[in-house]
Amino acid sequence: MTARRLVAALAATLALAVAPALRAEPPFSFATTPGALPKDIVPVEYALHLRPDIGTRSFRGTQTITVDVLRPTAAIVMNALDLVVAAATLRGADGRPIALAPPRHDTATQTIAFALSAPLVPGRYTLTMAWRGKINGAVEGLYLDRQADADGGERLTLATDLEPTSARRVLPCWDEPAFRARFRLTVDIGAGANAYSNMPIAQSVALAGGGRRISFEATPPMPSYLLALVAGDLERVGETIDGTRLGVVAMRGKSGRAAYPLAASGDLLRYFNDYFALPYPLPKLDQIAIAGGFSGGMENWGAIVYNESVLLVDPATASEATHQRVHALIAHEMAHQWLGNLVTMAWWDNLWLNEAFAEWMAVKANAQAFPEAHLWLRAKRAAENAMELDARSTTHPIQQPVTRDSEAESAFDTITYNKGSAFLRMLEAYLGETAFRDGIRQYLKRHRYANATSADLWAALADASGKPVAALAADWTTQAGFPLLDVDAQCDAGRRRVVIRQLPFRVPGASAAAATASEGEPRWNVPVQLGSVGTGDYVLVSGASAVVEREDDCAEPLVVDAADVGFFRVRYSAPLFDALATRWPALPDGARLKLLADTSALVRADQAPLARWLALVERIDDEPRLALWDQLLDDLERFDRLSVGEPERPAFHRFAVSVVAPRFARLGWEERADEPAEARQLRGRLAATLSRYGDAATIAEGQRRFARWVGEPASLAPSLVNAVIGIAGRHADVATYETLLALARRAPTSEERFRAYRAAATARDPALAARTLPLALDRDVPQIIRHELLASVARSDHLALAWSFARSHADALLADMKLFDGGQAFAGIVATSSSAATADELEAFARARLTDDALVEVRRAEDEIRTRARLKARLWPELAATVGEPPAPIEPVLFPRPAPAPPRPGMP
Ligand SMILES: [Zn+2]
Repeated sequence: MTARRLVAALAATLALAVAPALRAEPPFSFATTPGALPKDIVPVEYALHLRPDIGTRSFRGTQTITVDVLRPTAAIVMNALDLVVAAATLRGADGRPIALAPPRHDTATQTIAFALSAPLVPGRYTLTMAWRGKINGAVEGLYLDRQADADGGERLTLATDLEPTSARRVLPCWDEPAFRARFRLTVDIGAGANAYSNMPIAQSVALAGGGRRISFEATPPMPSYLLALVAGDLERVGETIDGTRLGVVAMRGKSGRAAYPLAASGDLLRYFNDYFALPYPLPKLDQIAIAGGFSGGMENWGAIVYNESVLLVDPATASEATHQRVHALIAHEMAHQWLGNLVTMAWWDNLWLNEAFAEWMAVKANAQAFPEAHLWLRAKRAAENAMELDARSTTHPIQQPVTRDSEAESAFDTITYNKGSAFLRMLEAYLGETAFRDGIRQYLKRHRYANATSADLWAALADASGKPVAALAADWTTQAGFPLLDVDAQCDAGRRRVVIRQLPFRVPGASAAAATASEGEPRWNVPVQLGSVGTGDYVLVSGASAVVEREDDCAEPLVVDAADVGFFRVRYSAPLFDALATRWPALPDGARLKLLADTSALVRADQAPLARWLALVERIDDEPRLALWDQLLDDLERFDRLSVGEPERPAFHRFAVSVVAPRFARLGWEERADEPAEARQLRGRLAATLSRYGDAATIAEGQRRFARWVGEPASLAPSLVNAVIGIAGRHADVATYETLLALARRAPTSEERFRAYRAAATARDPALAARTLPLALDRDVPQIIRHELLASVARSDHLALAWSFARSHADALLADMKLFDGGQAFAGIVATSSSAATADELEAFARARLTDDALVEVRRAEDEIRTRARLKARLWPELAATVGEPPAPIEPVLFPRPAPAPPRPGMP
């Protein structure tokens, strides 16, 4: 932080205010943690043996659980789902059996209960049981991933996916995160297979008739959702870093793509060991690639599982963006090994403690690994998505009550991840990087191998920083929404008087009116950095308004939140806005990004004139930062959605081309050795955008390059491959479409297969779009792709076609996915619509066909569509009239040439 130049805070509103309505969350206490299971018995260790039978898609399980009875109780209640529990024996410390009634299953609560004839006295017991369970086809519990082989056979991988509440599908257990226990897993596997779990192998014994019985070392005490098993025809490459055996595990024959993830996990292990000041606690850590299954990663302790498309990297063809993406995902999952696994949220209402933390830490680790890529700025794109959701009536606080297990799944959303991580970024900037890091270290040290609540985090951060963190942070995690700061200022003779008014930022939606301040509205304690170009200091705005006087250079414009770390919007008075726009190229990167993003959001919320956004767009031509282009291209897409079905749509597309084409023309199609790293990624982004808006020259050149690339893959720079395949897909004729499908079917890796299918699904030609639809039901198409195809077709200007197909094939589509995913999948098909009638149809469909838990995403999508319909009615006529006019000549705004990028240490 620069030296403080704050002269006086006139209004008393700068004192920290605590919103009275907020309940203060207590520190972690096992007894009072929410959950459905009684807390009078706790598991200490599961000695678990699984015997899968692939032929019958079932398995047998046996286990002896060591439990502590804390209070006298006459029943043992634990979770079990889709398991047939045959028998159980309870023994006390003296080893004598204690009579147990047969288990009573309750499918509604997903539990089994054993009644006892007399209450158990407190003490240690062992519970031995045997059961049968299912091996699932969907990614849930223990599941089987099937991949077609080159010679017509199948390769099978058995794997677990247990978060949040699927451990109970594998073993009867206390399946809530506060019930930590050690797991000692043994599994019988077939001949030729390998098996990986959280811990190293302790023993491997040959079984009669082939196959082996593999026993793993006991895990540390951990929640059940972190247990992992992956078995199949797998191979591993590894090395030892800082005393930890690191490995990358992939299907046999694919470990040639493991070098980058292995190197990245080595760098990240050193980074996290240093940052957390607590060395990674297990003896080994494997990054495991599975060909099918879910699309991201799962942070099982010591055995992180990924879809191979997002972990394995082809050293010959991978672009810089691919390296950044893979590095970020590994960083997220590795950060969980501390934030989530070593210290776990007490209950799902505190999921943000796991997920927002891992997300924030991933950006931090990635930003230091790729310093020239400005990844903190680019991370604002995710924060912007969260702000879009958080400004609507369907939002929720970062911490939200989760009363039933089935609600846990819906907590994994953009608000939890991205608002949460953006809030941590703001808090880190306010407390200072060192104090924040020291607070995290204390938090981990105090609560390791245990659980925590947000209150425990605030306490550690307060101790490290000396600031009242709990009072400041609670309004951000327990209130939905975020503030708009209205800013005005006068400057005279080196003194600037800044007036800041705080009100909730809301988008007028289906029912809500535009934001107006009134008594009783939520307020936030907002850390705000005020300054000029290159300087700034923090003030804390707490009440409805604040007045700040500061010594300042009146020739310089006032900049609020120059680093763009605040989770709030800023609306400048007209003179302040004009001063900033005039100095555009001289503004810090974050200030430019924030001004553009806030202006776009304010225009769409009917709180600023469209002319402000257009004034900034005129200035962006020579913009060097990719993050600003991300924002602008997202804005163009948002406005383009309003144009669907309108006669002025072609004029809007010509406008979009006119905004983007000059920059692309200067970049050219060919990479240059001396260009900044961001330019390489920008080239692909801009080419794809010009294709989207119908720029004939870009389309023709993209098609020419695609045709050449098919026969000569080395002809395309890695950073252009996605864009060129995307252009070919979007403007495909029948032959190109068939080429793409053929490429998808014979692709050697999931990454290439997914890319080809995704390109084919964006075809403009309605006949080709119609050919894509049945692929959503084709079991030869990977499940991840099947589930996103209809939304892709819908977003490629064929919404009615995709929606009609989805409704008429709803039975088959829903049978193919988990219940919760149904809401997301169907909402995703129509979410880009700007027609209220479509929202009505979605509502009717959901009411008839979906379960309550699936409705969360449906309600969000409905609200999004209705909000857009209102926006269209209000803004489209003005936008259409503006872009329909011939463009005025624009004075070029030149940025200083960026310095050459420094080499990236440690990265291939
Ligand atoms: Zn995560």
